[in-house]
Amino acid sequence: MNAPEQIVLIKQHLIDPEICIRCNTCEETCPIDAITHDDRNYVVKADVCNGCGACISPCPTGAIDNWRTMAKQSAYSIEEQLTWDELPAEKALEESVLTVIEHDNEAEVASENLQHNAAVSASSPTPPWSAAHPYLNLYTLKNPITATVAGNFRLTAPDAQSDVRHIVLDFGTQVFPVLEGQSIGIVPPGVDASGKPHYIRMYSIASPRDGEREGYNNLSLTVKRVVEDHDGKPVNGVCSNYLCDLQKGDTVQVTGPFGANYLMPNHTGSNILMICTGTGSAPMRAMTEHRRRFYAKGKPQDGKLMLFFGARKPEELPYFGPLRKLPADFIDMHLAFSRMPDEPKAYVQDKMLHAGSAVAELLKGDTYIYICGLKGMEKGVMESLQAICASQGMDWAEMHPRMVKEGRFHVETY
Ligand code: NAP
Repeated sequence: MNAPEQIVLIKQHLIDPEICIRCNTCEETCPIDAITHDDRNYVVKADVCNGCGACISPCPTGAIDNWRTMAKQSAYSIEEQLTWDELPAEKALEESVLTVIEHDNEAEVASENLQHNAAVSASSPTPPWSAAHPYLNLYTLKNPITATVAGNFRLTAPDAQSDVRHIVLDFGTQVFPVLEGQSIGIVPPGVDASGKPHYIRMYSIASPRDGEREGYNNLSLTVKRVVEDHDGKPVNGVCSNYLCDLQKGDTVQVTGPFGANYLMPNHTGSNILMICTGTGSAPMRAMTEHRRRFYAKGKPQDGKLMLFFGARKPEELPYFGPLRKLPADFIDMHLAFSRMPDEPKAYVQDKMLHAGSAVAELLKGDTYIYICGLKGMEKGVMESLQAICASQGMDWAEMHPRMVKEGRFHVETY
């Protein structure tokens, strides 16, 4: 008599195409190249993924964290996953199958990976201990919330090359609670070249938790009109052009909120070191404005703010005017301009080196670091932090993983 066939069960790792914003973070993070994509979907190779969990915390939306218990023989292929517009429902398993869960050391591997990530990569998988409770994924692609445009203002000078906009969205009487550092998804109307609805794009919120206008149920975004790709080839960004062209009174479909880690500390005495380029200033504006409102009411929060902000020129720097009005005893501000006609190119990391002793002083305290903007700046910023620490007898190689573990080092770059 033949022995019964042993059915091996796996926990198949899947990505939710309804929530995924195609930011490529998971594919970049995966240590064993188990993730791939086409022009629509990001998918996981069942025969390669070992469930290590390295991709889970960097995912900005949580789309990555989906699992199905499957017979290994009938795992979804990547070809099948690439056709999905939504995840398939969980299938009921026959009771008679012999359950052998592969990756039974999953938790152990995931924990090891977290430690490994803390040592080599850059962002905390947990929020600051005193961050407020974030609400997540209240609205999805299937069930978006409708916001009304309350304002659309150009932030860059009329003659500046880039068109960066401050867009205010109002939610009226609907519930949409957000925190500084969180993002929302925007659903651009219409369909793509293959006739499918556009996928959602994510934007950081630029206003504090109590509204762009204090006490109002609204929020703001900082959006740059995309007219060329990274190589300078002309392209029309679907969502950025849609947003930048919105008129007051127009309605917009919104998903989210997203983001459980890139949140500001709320406790007295916490310092915030912010490093950003261009539209990466959105979360910095939100955090700064949250603290500025306390300051304006004569109740300043005990804790320092330090900002390094890079743009090509002053007229290209979003919020340049309002920033310059902030008092020096409220925020220690360093602006870096890269394309001034008569000045050498300066990046945020250069300005950090110039202000090295003040940065080091801050790092000795209860400080939370936030980086946002161009991916390319990460390396330079890390090198500056390393050099600043070395010059002050501090060990960045020891501090960085500790800060990551303690929810004190947050990076959002694209
Ligand atoms: P940008 O205008 O292209 O660049 C801003 C500044 O960064 C320029 O001065 C640029 O200098 C400089 N820069 C270039 N390479 C650098 C490097 N390796 N290190 C340090 N500085 C460098 O910026 P942007 O177009 O606004 O882009 C901002 C980024 O933030 C985008 O990638 C966007 O996706 C991301 N982001 C946006 C949001 C949002 O809510 N809108 C949220 C999070 C992140 P030069 O070009 O003169 O060399």
